[in-house]
Amino acid sequence: MRSEADFLVAFHKGRVLIAPDGEGAWRLVRPGEVALAERAAESLFRFDRPLSAEALMLSDEEAEAVDGNSFRLVPLRETSVMLPSAHYTAAAKSAELMHWDSTTRFCGSCGAPMRRNTEISKLCTACGREIWPSLSPAAIVLVRRGDEALLVHAKTFSRPFYGLVAGFVETGESIEETVVREVKEETNLEIRNIRYFGSQTWPFPAQLMVGFTADYAGGELRFADGELTSGGFFSRDALPLIPGPPSIARRMIDAWLAEAEPGGRAGEE
Ligand SMILES: [Zn+2]
Repeated sequence: MRSEADFLVAFHKGRVLIAPDGEGAWRLVRPGEVALAERAAESLFRFDRPLSAEALMLSDEEAEAVDGNSFRLVPLRETSVMLPSAHYTAAAKSAELMHWDSTTRFCGSCGAPMRRNTEISKLCTACGREIWPSLSPAAIVLVRRGDEALLVHAKTFSRPFYGLVAGFVETGESIEETVVREVKEETNLEIRNIRYFGSQTWPFPAQLMVGFTADYAGGELRFADGELTSGGFFSRDALPLIPGPPSIARRMIDAWLAEAEPGGRAGEE
């Protein structure tokens, strides 16, 4: 029998179970705080970073029993601003593992059932094929032109904010090539001076967002491919509505804004 984890990441239909932790604060629940049915090890994920946690899926009955009173089931995205950083990271990691588990029940080669091999791998019960959780890398870029930055609105944005040009890495492509291609396809602009900013896990459902900055090098702004609906170069004192935390887009825009403050490039990574 495995030793008990410090926390439980309990999901139900994209929501995470959280518990109050003092005035206005929240945390993941601890084992024993909620009554749950026994689970097979195959349906659980256990990890020790960024904290010791066990991830599991609640049944409908369990979810109904635990939601309300002091505990709450909250959409994963909302927990990013409610939970301490390590707790949110554990929830994000759990969401990606659960997504992987639920979408790899059968072998992609021969169709036979898959079984868990290690904590993060599965083996096909017939042909022996081994698989691991996969991520989809995507590039996101802040394009500067003088003191302005390119902010765009995409059809897929859930709210009327202006964010950054982004897109998935395609097969046979370096991520720097993704940056150049996406900016060209979505805005008709050429860029140069592509520089790495930082990266962020994005568990909706399993992406790695890799951030870059670049300089405008030419071209007329045009939204041709239908993904973007509006946008332009904005100065720091005339910003539209921008994305909220925890997005890397917000971190990148904040870093660009901070460059204008006394002390200069303090926020840049
Ligand atoms: Zn197989």
